[in-house]
Amino acid sequence: MIKRLEVKTSHREQFVEITSQIKAIVKAENLASGYVIIYVPHTTCGVTINENADPAVKEDMVNTFSRLVPRDKGYKHTEGNSDAHIKASLIGSSIMVLVESSTLVLGTWQGIFLAEFDGPRQRTVLIRMVHC
Ligand code: ZN
Repeated sequence: MIKRLEVKTSHREQFVEITSQIKAIVKAENLASGYVIIYVPHTTCGVTINENADPAVKEDMVNTFSRLVPRDKGYKHTEGNSDAHIKASLIGSSIMVLVESSTLVLGTWQGIFLAEFDGPRQRTVLIRMVHC
């Protein structure tokens, strides 16, 4: 069964940590061993794993993506958010995390982030748990 997590973003570009919410969903399902697929059904946001200890990392990510893919570069897409589409593809729309004893197997400094590139918006994160 697919679980849903609703995330409300507050800026055009930001990394929102969703680790604790995903952990709670996995724990509630009592998934002893397996993996979880975390997927966003959107074209201008993505999901990624990165450091959650120093908040400056999130800031550096946003700033670096903006430098790599400037907002206005004469794109053809008339909606005016081509940079967000490109950044979303660079980040990717899904991740997989191993689960053991109903807990996500993450490194000490790892957190799961929704990467918003065209907010603020209401976003949906889909979570599919697989027992194995
Ligand atoms: Zn668009």
